[in-house]
Amino acid sequence: MRFRRLAAVVPAVAIAVLAAACGSSEKTVDVQTTSGNNNGALVGVTMPTKSSERWIHDGDNVKAGLEKLGYKVDLQYAENDIPTQVNQIENQITRGAKLLIIASIDGTAITTQLQEAADKKIPVIAYDRLIRNSPNVDYYATFDNFKVGVQQATSLLVGLKLKNEDGTDGTAKGPFNIELFGGSPDDNNATFFFNGAMSVLQPYIDNKTLVVKSGQTDFKTVAILRWDPATAQKRMEDLLTKTYSGGTKVDGVLSPYDGLSIGILSALKSNGYGTADQPYPIVTGQDAELASVKSIIAGEQYSTIYKDTRQLADITVKMADTVLKGGQPEVNNTKDYDNGNKVVPSYLLDPVIVNKTNYQKEVVDTGYYTQAQLGG
Ligand code: BGC
Repeated sequence: MRFRRLAAVVPAVAIAVLAAACGSSEKTVDVQTTSGNNNGALVGVTMPTKSSERWIHDGDNVKAGLEKLGYKVDLQYAENDIPTQVNQIENQITRGAKLLIIASIDGTAITTQLQEAADKKIPVIAYDRLIRNSPNVDYYATFDNFKVGVQQATSLLVGLKLKNEDGTDGTAKGPFNIELFGGSPDDNNATFFFNGAMSVLQPYIDNKTLVVKSGQTDFKTVAILRWDPATAQKRMEDLLTKTYSGGTKVDGVLSPYDGLSIGILSALKSNGYGTADQPYPIVTGQDAELASVKSIIAGEQYSTIYKDTRQLADITVKMADTVLKGGQPEVNNTKDYDNGNKVVPSYLLDPVIVNKTNYQKEVVDTGYYTQAQLGG
């Protein structure tokens, strides 16, 4: 099984990251090099959608960072529509962009545009999501996506009290009923999240401490196209009707993204969960979106994975600036992100589990949100 193999490579990844951190892995990477003076050059930035807050922060932060360095920025959102994103990238190339930063909607759909970019010696940085099946992706900046999945599953176990936060065994014994959700199948990150999560959950499923009562454990079956909250809500409603109608309760839901978690919680609410007699199951998430952090504080969603988009924007802006000046940016992973055509040199940042006990320290004290935004 794929996630078992991935789990097995984690130590190697850790070693590579450590080696890179110690400066012992100087990379010579064949990338597009820009020629001439790129001071004040135009940079094209394309983001998937404004329907999720995180991408709004990402776009704003990347734009501000580049503008601070004197670059001009064309920032575009495509509302999750692939042809729109394709046009936006084409336009940026036509308008003379000297570098492209792309958070793709479908990681396989922009091969032609990337070829055009390569023909014009325009370097490309994949932002957060890997662009697949193209040799014309020079760098990738992201969070450690496998680790995100590991953290989501770990927090599910902690919420169920099968584990303590320090990693020791918890007081509960199970069995617990859980259901699994995956992200969009055309987003390369989604399988990394799922495989990371399953590397933690599978042993508990195998020994029957965790029971996926619907029997739906295959990524393709649990994946939610375009990360759409309404689709997740509908799937949760169907699961509750078909699998949990006889009075059995669902104890935990692996959700890979806060938007889906909101849909899932809403389906649970309309099926009688969220009361003193029938509390919500443990529901995970990702992105520390404002509504979900509030939901965590209110005791509804259990956890989220905080990925500081300011850090991601920062590292990407540094990468872009270095490339535009003809240099080679720092990377810390040259193993894990094979896009089907090449292994893309990557910089991976560290995600953090956030729940009711540490949100203050992680998202308020770090200035990600103000206390007033969280309503207190
Ligand atoms: C990102 C996640 C996000 C999801 C939905 C993924 O590619 O890595 O942070 O939750 O897309 O927008």
